Amino acid sequence: MTIKKVIDFCLHFLLPNVCVICGKDTDDVYACVCRDCLTGIERIEGLSCAICSQPLPDGGAHCWQCKKASFHFEKIVAVGKYSGILRDLILKFKEMDCLKYSLGDLLLEIVEKNIGVQGFDLLVAVPLSKKREFSRGYNQSNLMAEVIGKKLNKPVVKNNLIRIRDTKPQFKLSRNERILNLKDAFRIKSPEAFKKKNIVIVDDVTTTCTTFEECARQLKNSGAGKIYCAALARD
Ligand SMILES: [Zn+2]
Ligand SMILES: [Zn+2]
Repeated sequence: MTIKKVIDFCLHFLLPNVCVICGKDTDDVYACVCRDCLTGIERIEGLSCAICSQPLPDGGAHCWQCKKASFHFEKIVAVGKYSGILRDLILKFKEMDCLKYSLGDLLLEIVEKNIGVQGFDLLVAVPLSKKREFSRGYNQSNLMAEVIGKKLNKPVVKNNLIRIRDTKPQFKLSRNERILNLKDAFRIKSPEAFKKKNIVIVDDVTTTCTTFEECARQLKNSGAGKIYCAALARD
């Protein structure tokens, strides 16, 4: 942890309802980001790929990647691009679990609008490695899945889709390296829990869709129905 991170953490501990982005009072003990900053998030609106949510300023139904690839999931829904306030919030979420309420609500809104409450039966989070989850104390995707599950009355299945080996950080790799990096990184302990279920997989950021695809492939192999993916940001 850098000194700035320690100071941020202590400040938040002393002043829990202060916005982690602008420092203003949030007027809500559960929120650690204010309304103005949430409104300032640049949403993915208008033209975007029907499968992966990549913005397509020039129009068209699919991006070049989805035109030639096929996936085990139906589509990815995302709140915004991985930039600006949303990026800052996602980075802070790795240290401040209090962001789960505001960020979980943002994702909930997108899931309701673009997948629909009737469209799925349960939620799972993209698992972290045991080592990373232990050092962080939580899996932020799991926390968001819990917020959504609680509000929509859907179960969150935990510790069933698991990461069986540590993988290199994806952002350093090319697309082909990413696919190889994740190959057989996940396993399902009890396939029965996913059989014939329509599932939403939750993650914080998606870059090349390879993590979602690898999780979706495992779920489909377990006999799952339709798979949808929900991320805060589409990088
Ligand atoms: Zn703010
Ligand atoms: Zn696409």
